[in-house]
Amino acid sequence: MGVGVFNPRPTGFCAPRPSADEGDDAIAAIETKARDDLAIRDRRVADRVQKFPESVIREMTRIAALHGAVNLAQGYPDFEPPPEVTEAAKRALDGGYNQYSITWGARELRDAIARRAKAFNGIDADPEANLVVTCGSTEAMMAAMLSLINEGDEAVIFEPFYENYGPDAIVSGARPRYVRMAWPDWGIDEEQLKAAFTDRTKVVILNTPNNPTGKIFTRDELRVVADLCADHDVVAVTDEIYEHIVFEGAKHVSLATVGDMAERTITINGLSKTYSATGWRVGWAIAPRTLASAMRRTHDFLTVGAPHPLQIATVAALNLPESYYRELARAYQQKRDAFVRGLQAAGLDCRLPAGAYYVMADFSAFPFPDDWAFAMYLVERLRVAVVPGSSFYGNPKDGQRFVRFMFSKKDETLREAVSRVQGLRDVR
Ligand code: GLN
Repeated sequence: MGVGVFNPRPTGFCAPRPSADEGDDAIAAIETKARDDLAIRDRRVADRVQKFPESVIREMTRIAALHGAVNLAQGYPDFEPPPEVTEAAKRALDGGYNQYSITWGARELRDAIARRAKAFNGIDADPEANLVVTCGSTEAMMAAMLSLINEGDEAVIFEPFYENYGPDAIVSGARPRYVRMAWPDWGIDEEQLKAAFTDRTKVVILNTPNNPTGKIFTRDELRVVADLCADHDVVAVTDEIYEHIVFEGAKHVSLATVGDMAERTITINGLSKTYSATGWRVGWAIAPRTLASAMRRTHDFLTVGAPHPLQIATVAALNLPESYYRELARAYQQKRDAFVRGLQAAGLDCRLPAGAYYVMADFSAFPFPDDWAFAMYLVERLRVAVVPGSSFYGNPKDGQRFVRFMFSKKDETLREAVSRVQGLRDVR
């Protein structure tokens, strides 16, 4: 059958990546100019906002609602947080926690984060010196970038990358240098990684377990990153929000525990994914003293603080027993296995992710011109929402044969989605 393009639209949110031979000047030129296809035609709007659209991930949630689709786009569960955690929140609302906390986080939460960071990650954090509690890890990431980047500094970003890092770089003034994680195993070419570090590199952004690929960085890979950071005096900003969603007994390694990286790593985490409470907006950063001081200033004037009662309830989350984390990983592994099998049965090319709750699928066996056409077909005709792959790449073209599915959903929701996706069999 013929497949039309239902809703063609601009893809990707970052400026296109220059080809290798265009060199540094090309990066500079591209990074400073707004894209016509993203323009808000009102000269009162600041230039920086002309360079990125609203989140494609969150836009797909709105499109899903419009079509009554199963939403496998934006990564959040359709099940509730553990009852111990929601009960703690109710108690906190009645317990005198309704005014501001200390801007960088309630002391009892900082104590609990420090305990957990020591026990699980092996990171030493002084609650008075090294911790900043933020409105989700999203704010922590933006606050870190605003606290580190001077206009024109370079940021090394592994690609495909979680969409937010693009606007984080644009708003903070960083020029991204992408290092490819290659389909289908998401391996990294060490030479390409080395070449991405220059004397202008200020930060490397690393997300492990990785969204959207599921890649878990090994200790050896982290050691290579650590050596490059030391050689080039670079700060690593690591997003470890999926640290407990790892499969087949894989071990999460925090970059801050490799060599002397604690001195130059900002480790970002939060409540959202581990405790299935993405709407609470409680996140945090663990950073060396001076960088934590800088982040506290930025954070203070961005948001003042995360919701105080929910910070207090987060203490209860962090005190859950080890069995909670084992069960979380087990349950997600089971979802992953059944879900990925279902996608493969529909004819999609995808592999079992090693961690996190996303899977990238190559749909190039089907006759669609690009990822948006395929995603719109899925949402409008089969009523399953996904994220077009281009939104995870600096150059949208590089992601055009992929879409991202996520599987943080009840088993019955995933079963329904898999059965709808089988409709693809009629397309070939
Ligand atoms: N991290 C999730 C995703 O990638 C949700 C992002 C968000 O909306 N903050 O889908």
